Parts: sequence; C-alpha cells; structure tokens
Amino acid sequence: MKRVLNFIGGELRPPSAGGYLPDVDPATGEEIARVADSDASDVDAAVAAASRAFPAWRKTAAEERSRLLMRLADLVEENFDELALLESQDSGKPVALARRLDVPRAIRNFRFFATAILHAETRCHPMDGEALNYTLRQPVGVAGLISPWNLPLYLLTWKIAPAVAAGNCCVAKPSELTPLTADRLAELVREAEIPPGVVNVVHGRGAAAGRALTSHPGVPLISFTGGTKTGADVMAAAGPLFKKVSLELGGKNPNIVFADADLEAAVATSISSSFANQGEICLCGSRIFVERTIYDEFLDRFVEKTKNLRVGDPRDPATEVGALISEAHLRKVAGYLDLAKEEGGRILCGGRRPPELPGRLAGGAFLEPAVVVGLECSGRVMQEEIFGPVVTVTPFDSPDEAVAYANGSRYGLSASVWTRDLAKAHRVAAAIDCGTVWVNTWLLRDLRVPFGGMKESGVGREGGFDSLDFFTEAKNVCIKL
Ligand code: NAD
Repeated sequence: MKRVLNFIGGELRPPSAGGYLPDVDPATGEEIARVADSDASDVDAAVAAASRAFPAWRKTAAEERSRLLMRLADLVEENFDELALLESQDSGKPVALARRLDVPRAIRNFRFFATAILHAETRCHPMDGEALNYTLRQPVGVAGLISPWNLPLYLLTWKIAPAVAAGNCCVAKPSELTPLTADRLAELVREAEIPPGVVNVVHGRGAAAGRALTSHPGVPLISFTGGTKTGADVMAAAGPLFKKVSLELGGKNPNIVFADADLEAAVATSISSSFANQGEICLCGSRIFVERTIYDEFLDRFVEKTKNLRVGDPRDPATEVGALISEAHLRKVAGYLDLAKEEGGRILCGGRRPPELPGRLAGGAFLEPAVVVGLECSGRVMQEEIFGPVVTVTPFDSPDEAVAYANGSRYGLSASVWTRDLAKAHRVAAAIDCGTVWVNTWLLRDLRVPFGGMKESGVGREGGFDSLDFFTEAKNVCIKL
C-alpha cells in the first residue's frame, strides 16, 4: 500500500511518530493509500527547513523565481492525466471535471503568479520637494497554507504559487482526506529544482498538524481555506501571535433568476452551479430564488435536467456527478434531506443512493442530486451550509424581496443573478452582501480579480495583486530631500 510521506527540506520523510491515516477512494470505499499522521514535531521540522531556505529565496531575483514556477507549471501539465486521475480517485469527483477544472487551474495558478511578479509595481508619494516616500513590498517569511478536500490541487496551488512567487517559503498542510495530488506535486517541486525548503508539505489531521501550524511562532502568515467553524479555530490560534491571516470559508450562495432572464441559459448553468463537483464547491448556488411568474416553468425544466444527470463511476468520462467525499459526509448531507421533510419541504427528485451502480461501486458514497421546495428561508436547511448535491428552490415577487432573501444568511461568499435588464443587474449586484456576484454566468474566474467572502464566509481577499499584497509586507521608506 502506498505511503504518503511529508516533503520537508526537499526530501520525503516519514512522520516522526510513525502513525498513518487511511486514505479512502470514496467511490469504492476502498483504502488506496496511507497518509502521514503528522504532529507538532513534523511541523517544527518543516518550519525549520522553510526558515533555513528563506534568506536565499527572498534574495533570488524575480525572474529566476518566475522561471522555476513556470517550469513547475510545465511539469504539472506534462503529468496532466495522472494528476486528474489521482484527484478523481481521492475525492470522488468525475475525472472529466478534474480534467476540465482542477488540473488546468493548477497550471494557470503557477503561470499567473510566475508572470505577475514580473509586472509588479510599488507606489511613490512625493512630499512637495521636502521628501520622497516609496513603498517596498517584501516577503513575510514562512507561510502556513491550509487547504480543503473539495478542490485539492486547485486550492493548494492557489496558495503555494503567490506565496512562493512573492519570495516566501511555505509549509502546506493539505486535507488529510485528499493528499495524493499534493504528494505528486511535491515530487514535481523537486524535479523543477526549486531549492529545498522553499516548498514543504506536511500531511495529517487538522487538529494535530493544522493546529501546530496555525499556532507556530515561526509562521507569521496563515492562508486558510475550509469550513467556517475551523476558520474560527484558526483565528483563535493565530490571533494572539498577531499573524497575518486570510480566511476563505463556507457559503450558502443565492442564485436569483428574474422573469426576464434567458431561461434556457439560467436553467443549464443553474444545474452546474447546484451540482458540479457533487455540490461540493464553496461557490455552488445552493439557494435558488425564482421570480414567481416563471417559477413553475423554471422548476419543471430544472427538475427534468436534474433527473437526467449521470451519477456514477467518477472514472467514466461521461459521468457528471461522482461520489461525495466520504460515507460520513454522505450521512450528513442525507440528514439535511430528512430535516427538510421535518421543516415542511418536499423533495421533488433525488436524495437516494442510485440503485444501479456496478459492483465495484457498491460501497461508494453516491447520492442522486436533490431538489427541495416549500421551505422557509429562516429554517436550518436554507441557513446551514450542506456542501452536497442538494438545492432549494423558492419563489419571490420583487427585486427587493430577492435581495432580502439573498442577504438573509450569515454567509456572504458569492451570488448569481439572471436577468436581461442591465440596470436591474447593476442594482441587485450592488445590494447583495457577498464577495463575488456573477450576472448571467457562474464560476467564470479571472485570476486578477479580488476573491473572498463577507460575513462568516471569510476575512481578506485573494487573487491577483491582492494575493501578492497579502503575501508581502508593505514598508514605507521616507527620504528627506
Ligand atoms: P475543514 O475546515 O474541515 O478543513 C480544511 C483544512 O483545515 C483541512 O486541511 C483540515 O485538515 C484543516 N483543519 C481542520 N481543523 C483544523 C484546525 N483546528 N486548525 C488548523 N487546520 C485545521 O474543511 P473541509 O471540510 O476540508 O472543506 C470544506 C469547507 O471548505 C466548506 O465549508 C467549504 O465551503 C469551504 N471552502 C471554502 C472555499 C472558499 O474559497 N471560500 C473554497 C473551498 C472550500
């Protein structure tokens, strides 16, 4: 059985206490690897390796850092098929999605930040002949990077690329549920000849390895993506040490469809925004609000398309919905469907294990995508993040009511708005309390734009120069003339 080891100072190393965790393929329920169950001493070793590498790396010219990261991007591209397969096996997502979304985005992340640092500028504030101020942007030191299981390589590289491009060294802690692509990436980091210690990967549980990183005094910066409750724990550990912290957390995103929308496009994209990656994307639109005059027509078309989604073997290129991340998560998601009934909702389709899966998938965490109607917006099903293939559909009567529903959540990550009325699109977009509003689209990502959440969806913004700002300290130099 494959053992996933830590990557510290350019070497693969077993965890110091010798323990391993099972890594399960959620489509079959079978163990596919054993992953290092690291603790504080492994994190100490990784932080020490990163600290040793930092003085030379921060002095390495931007052009050279850029060249090495471009080389890494090329190596990810050369290993495209293998990485897509590993991601699918580890997380249950369709391999077709890993090929379309996860691996291409990992490549783009490296190329984007490798080239961004070649174009960075800083500011100058002249003081009327008296003095000149200019801003230096300098790397912070050792960056702690903690990522979740839903987009493992995509989100890990979204952190490693800007951190290292900006001149930091890093200790990454991927999700213990999906360590395989991080493990392969570590080998590619070595192959790219990125100096030892610049990128370190420590595997293991959040409560052990993750916590050791967020509370480590040698790590002045934490970039975390994961659940809101975990985010609070990260903040509590990092706060007293005055770390720079970026938190990308959960969502309960509204998807508002006005009567004047292009209905066909709204239905088709709402299928993706509800069920892509089994609904396990923080940006999924899990609360659909439809203007009452088109509610029935939208619902008919939406339910029909939902029923036609192909749920099954993640390795089959035709599969649209794969397995959830684990049996435990499936039980949690299914529990919300029971709760929906208790709260007075009706399940129009889905919510069952697909009856006809081939034998090898019998133990898999599969769930047919579910559409729920008839719920109150204030109930738990419409308030709590379910993070699975479950969507609610609710009618509304006016733009104000739609905005009130959208904002009636403690989350504020993203929203979609469907309308052909441009003025209405602008008004509604401005009124929704969230970090990203898509109009007549979903998940269209320009890597230059600010990305992040309001309210309990996060703190700070990443993307483009926001990421490079986060991963550097601004220093003002004032010169008397
Ligand atoms: P999670 O919070 O359970 O775990 C995320 C990571 O944090 C994992 O690596 C985990 O091991 C680690 N961790 C757990 N406890 C920790 C602790 N006490 N200290 C330090 N690290 C700890 O989240 P998950 O279940 O892996 O991912 C799903 C969640 O992530 C959802 O809520 C989803 O909305 C959110 N998410 C947000 C974004 C975004 O950009 N806003 C993107 C993807 C996922």
